[in-house]
Amino acid sequence: MKAIFEALNLREGGMIATYLTDHGVPAEVRGGNHHAVRGELYNIRGLLPQVFVLEDEDAAAAEELIKAYFELIKNAPAGDPWICPSCGEVLEPQFVSCWKCQAERPA
Ligand SMILES: [Zn+2]
Repeated sequence: MKAIFEALNLREGGMIATYLTDHGVPAEVRGGNHHAVRGELYNIRGLLPQVFVLEDEDAAAAEELIKAYFELIKNAPAGDPWICPSCGEVLEPQFVSCWKCQAERPA
């Protein structure tokens, strides 16, 4: 297991981990829960959520995928955020499934 990305928050970390996993690179988010307890710790380095690849040899592929992910976000068509019908998470318009519970976006 190897840390490959430090996310701004759990939501971003979760989206990236899901994106990597969906693209054949198993990944997960660790850490970053402290802000739920003490808001002022939110941005302290080391407490931010880290995205890990489960297999160290996937690190290079993961970095390429993360670059592609941010290109996707940058070029995403404008639209309204949508709300997951299953868990209530608010999701950016470019996502077709919920990063939190994997529910499909309703048509
Ligand atoms: Zn959901």
